[in-house]
This record gives sequence, C-alpha cells and structure tokens, in this order.
Amino acid sequence: MVAIKLQHVSKSYQGPVIEDLNLTIPTQQITALVGPSGSGKSTLLNLIAGLTTPDSGQIWFDEQPIFDADQSLNCPPAKRQLAMVFQDFALWPHMTVHQNIAFAIETHLSKAECRKRVEWALAQVSLADYGQRYPRELSGGQQQRVALARALATQPDLILFDEALSALDPQLRLQLQQDISALVKAHHLTAIFVTHDRQEALRIADNIVLLHAGQVVQSDTAANLYQHPRNQFAARFMGPLNQIDDHTAVRPEHVHLVEQGADGPCYPGQILTSTFMGDHYDTLVQMADYQWHLKTALPYAPATITMTVDSSAILTY
Ligand code: ADP
Ligand code: MG
Repeated sequence: MVAIKLQHVSKSYQGPVIEDLNLTIPTQQITALVGPSGSGKSTLLNLIAGLTTPDSGQIWFDEQPIFDADQSLNCPPAKRQLAMVFQDFALWPHMTVHQNIAFAIETHLSKAECRKRVEWALAQVSLADYGQRYPRELSGGQQQRVALARALATQPDLILFDEALSALDPQLRLQLQQDISALVKAHHLTAIFVTHDRQEALRIADNIVLLHAGQVVQSDTAANLYQHPRNQFAARFMGPLNQIDDHTAVRPEHVHLVEQGADGPCYPGQILTSTFMGDHYDTLVQMADYQWHLKTALPYAPATITMTVDSSAILTY
C-alpha cells in the first residue's frame, strides 16, 4: 500500500535528465510511465527505487519521507519494500528457477519458509512445476514469469517494471499484461510500468504519466490522456491524429465519409490510398494542408470526397 510523491526532484548527468519533477503516483493501481526513448523513464524509476540518487528534491512513500536532499535522508533500496522487473529478466544462468527466487529472500527466512514462499510465488505465475529447471530451459515468456515470481516472493508493496515485456512477442505480451494486472490487483500492490508503447500503456494502466525531456507533460487516467490531451505532443503520443488546424484535431475513428447530408462539421478531401490493416482499411485523405487517416470498412479508390467529424470528439489544445 504505497502512494508515491515526488517534489522538486532533479537529476543531471552531463545535462539535466529529470527537471524539477513533481508527481504523485496513486496506491494500489498500475501507473504507466510513458515517453519517447531518452525522456528519462528509467532514470525516474531508478530514483524511486533508490538505485540512483537525486541531486535535489524529496520523495515520500505514503507519509514516510524516503529521500530528502536537504536533510541528507536517503533510505537504501533494500529498505524501500519494492521489487523490480527488467526487460532482460536478470536471472542467474547457473541457478535453477527455485534457486533464483530463493536467492532474493533466503537471508530473511528459515529454509522451510523459504521453500514454501518460492513454491507460492511460482504458483502465482503458473510455473509450479518448473522449480528445478534452469533459465536456459525456459522460453522468454516463462523466464519473465520467473522474474515476476522472484519479485512477488519478496512480498513488496511496490513493483517497478522497466520495459519488462518489450522483448516478448505480441501474443505473449498480451498474456503477461493480463497476468500482471491480475496479480497487482489480487495482492493490492502499487505498480509503475515503464513502456515506450502506448498500446501497452492503455491496456495495462489505470493512470498514465507522460514524460518528455525529463518533465511530466500530463499525468492522468488513460482515457483522459487519450481523449483530453493537454498539448499536441500528448495528443500525438497517445494515438494517430488528424489535424484540423494548429490547435484542433480529431482521431481517425471519429472521421466518417459523408454519404449524404451530415450533422457535424464537414471537410472536403481527396482520397490518396487505402491500405488493408486486417480489421479495417487505413484510408489516407488529403485535407487542405494535412493528410488524414480514416478507418474504413472498405477500400476506396482515389476520388474527391466529403468527410464529417464527431464534433464532441474534436481535441483542442
Ligand atoms: P528512457 O528510459 O526514457 O529511454 P533514460 O532515463 O534511460 O531514458 O535516459 C534519459 C537520459 O539520461 C538519456 O539522455 C541518457 O543518456 C541519460 N542517462 C541515463 N543514465 C545515465 C548515466 N548513468 N550516465 C549518464 N547519462 C545517463
Ligand atoms: Mg529506459
């Protein structure tokens, strides 16, 4: 049960990476940390974990200060009740699955308790029979489940995922996204899930924090960030966008070809191409100076057409 609060947190290396960042991360939910490569996602996660020390600012877990630059307070990572899961699994190749998980907890528990805890953790990730295998004898998805079991075995309040699923193929990712969601909810954990993939963020997260150049662009529910982005960067990051002018735009699913008479605002256009996307066609239309993408059920040949948009879905920023 941990809500995390950061106030005026900064970190520089050669230049500033995290700049005067203020952020609250709610307890017992999954918060996705998204942003382009190099925006500071991993650095922010490491600051929360205590693996990297901020240059300035304060960090609280619930009402407990765990870092305060002014007071020289810095709670060591091992005392922060958190676990991390990384993209590369970070399993010891010479240890069995059981040993890999036990390694994280054995100093705190008796032998019997440790064995029970490992078995419990493996059961949580549906790998009850895999304790005696070595990591090389497992698929990528199974190895990531072991990493997840190792995190759960420490019985943390908080789990931090850094691009944990980015190396897995799409189907496995989907399954693990569901499993992680279910486990976080079942154990009342707080989770921060770093990803550069907005689809993954939308699927897994209750809240999304969008970072750009070390600053929070928007911290919001997934739906609000998609439907009410604060600026053009947020709008574009969260999904494809058809620009109406400099400050208004509409998402492809809210643009329709006008068959006859339309209620909403109408825009003339020239169909350029229609590309098969599986469940729809991505129909590209020249609209004044902009190129619009439409989701259509059928392909269209080049022609002059009229489009209408759902006026309630127009984004302004
Ligand atoms: P992200 O995870 O969003 O891709 P990072 O937090 O890894 O971004 O990196 C943000 C910036 O900080 C990058 O420009 C990176 O080069 C720099 N950086 C991160 N860690 C270090 C470090 N240990 N030493 C020097 N520069 C670093
Ligand atoms: Mg990173």
